[in-house]
Amino acid sequence: MNRPKQGCGSCYACCKTHGIKELKKVPGELCGHCKPGRKACQIYKKRPKECMEFKCFWLATNGTGPNRPDRLGVVIDAYNNTLLDNLPVAAFFEYIPGKLKDERVLKHARDALRNQVYLSFMKLDRNVTVFFPDSYDEENTNIGILPEGTVVGTREELGV
Ligand code: SF4
Ligand code: SF4
Repeated sequence: MNRPKQGCGSCYACCKTHGIKELKKVPGELCGHCKPGRKACQIYKKRPKECMEFKCFWLATNGTGPNRPDRLGVVIDAYNNTLLDNLPVAAFFEYIPGKLKDERVLKHARDALRNQVYLSFMKLDRNVTVFFPDSYDEENTNIGILPEGTVVGTREELGV
C-alpha cells in the first residue's frame, strides 16, 4: 500500500497543495514522488514525517461524505495555531483553480468564521487572503507577522 494516507482513497490533493519542508517542496506544485492514481505516493514507506502526520479536516472528521478534497477542489486544514496565541485556524488550500469561490467551500468558510475561527485562503499561485472573525481584537490578539503579500479580506467578501 503506498497511497498518501490510509483512508485517503485515490485523493492526493495535499501532495499538491501543501509545502513539505523535508522535500523542499513548495505549496501548489505536485510532489515529485506523486504518481497520480490510487497508490499515488511512490515513497510511501519512507515518506516524510510531515506527510505521515498530516490529516486534512475531511480525513480527521471521519473521511466520509462528498467533500473529499480532490472532489471539493480545496483542502481544508483545521488546527489551533500555537504561533498565533493558539487561535483556531482553518486554512483553505486551492487544489482545483477557482474552487475557493465555490458555494460549498464558501459555506464551510462562513460557518467557521461565525464560530470565531480565523481563516486563510491560499491559491495555487501561493497568494494568501486572511479573514478575521468578529471577535478579533486588534490590540489584544497576537496574530504574529503576516507573510509578505498577504491580503486581509473582509467578512462581507464571504457573505457573512
Ligand atoms: S487531502 Fe486529505 S484525503 Fe486527500 S490525500 Fe491529503 S490527507 Fe488524504
Ligand atoms: S512524499 Fe508522498 S505523501 Fe508526501 S507529498 Fe510526496 S507523494 Fe505525497
